[in-house]
Amino acid sequence: MFMDKSSRISGFYKLPVTERLEKVAEFAGLTDEERKTFIRDGKIALGIDAEIADRMIENVIGIFELPLGIATNFLINGKDYLIPMAIEESSVVAAASNAARIARVKGGFHATTTEPLMIGQIQVLKIKDIDTAINAINREKKRLLEVANAQDNTLVSFGGGARDIEIRIVGDSKEKMMILHLLVDVRDAMGANAVNTMCEALAPIVEDITEGKARLKILSNLADRRLARAEAIFDKKTMGGEDVVDAFLEGYRFATLDPYRAATHNKGIMNGIDAVVIATGNDWRAIEAGAHAYAARDGRYKPLTKYWKDDNGNLVGSIELPVAIGTVGGAASIHRKAQICRKILGIKSAKELAEVIASVGLAQNFAALFALSTVGIQKGHMELHAQNLAVMVGAKGDQIDEIAKRMIEEKNVKIDRAKELMKELYSA
Ligand code: NAD
Repeated sequence: MFMDKSSRISGFYKLPVTERLEKVAEFAGLTDEERKTFIRDGKIALGIDAEIADRMIENVIGIFELPLGIATNFLINGKDYLIPMAIEESSVVAAASNAARIARVKGGFHATTTEPLMIGQIQVLKIKDIDTAINAINREKKRLLEVANAQDNTLVSFGGGARDIEIRIVGDSKEKMMILHLLVDVRDAMGANAVNTMCEALAPIVEDITEGKARLKILSNLADRRLARAEAIFDKKTMGGEDVVDAFLEGYRFATLDPYRAATHNKGIMNGIDAVVIATGNDWRAIEAGAHAYAARDGRYKPLTKYWKDDNGNLVGSIELPVAIGTVGGAASIHRKAQICRKILGIKSAKELAEVIASVGLAQNFAALFALSTVGIQKGHMELHAQNLAVMVGAKGDQIDEIAKRMIEEKNVKIDRAKELMKELYSA
């Protein structure tokens, strides 16, 4: 049904901004009003106005913009996606598109998710008899879940709600505390508000049952019951041969052995993930916290991706991480551009968005390791970096391209050189 639309748009990167928007609008069936949310009267428009911004956070003095780009070529679970990415770092969008182009050769990404279960935590202190308290909570589980669900009829009406309660005991013999985990199926929401409300409502009852003192009642960002996974085969021929696959795997092994490298490896993953999370109006701090905590879940910080060779010598990559995002609630419901970005993606649920996000994370990581294990990362970075430097020294329009081009030819991409060229060529 969606096979008629392709995210392979040749020469997309060469088009002017307005024509790119036209292509995306065509792909996603954007209305005139939706197009104007991005470009109005030939100028980039704001997605939220001052009044909305002033209600979103405190002490507002303005709106802070990020460029919004579109990654092309993504084929995920047999469906073509154009992927909006909000990010200030150069090369990320191009790298994702390039990785997705290579993944397409062998059928693109295959992604899945677990149920959208978030964890709410209630910290219970000063319990005299922990075993008795555990038994009492287990006896009262049904009532506790009913109270939790009574806090959010809407969530329950959409098929979500509190599902289970688990108890963990943390601390040492000097100070033991009971941590009650409330597992909530949050459906299409990120779920923090929903879960926090439930935890606060349960706390006094938990105090009664355990004869303890409930202190913190808050969601855990280590959303390890809400995982997204993606896998792709990267064709060895398109990569440049089996030697390149071997070089790639050597580079990957470094990350498995050394947390200093693993941190940078995972940062590259988050380049892609955060950009989509931001573009869709989601909480990227929550995603970051979840991803890094998950990477360290075995007691040592590890890469979030895995790579190996298949029987034919092709590279296979996979990723697994918590992806707590929503398509309803939070800023996702208020931010106009975020709403349209979700329309561009054509996603029908938070589950589908999580699958896209995991695929982008894998693509981004593949692209970085592919560059690092072959030509190095700076080659791709330098072109846009040179343009940024030209802008910094006051270049406008064609001047930007000219100064950037010269610095790249001279292999001298530095702010001082940009200043000199600006002076030499345009006597500024
Ligand atoms: P929310 O409360 O705005 O919206 C979620 C609600 O939408 C649900 O509780 C439900 O009542 C309703 N809903 C309607 N249709 C639904 C559907 N199809 N599926 C699920 N729910 C549906 O938002 P939220 O998702 O509970 O919370 C997200 C916000 O919380 C974010 O802005 C985040 O930044 C913030 N937050 C995060 C943390 C944290 O990460 N530690 C802590 C506090 C707040």
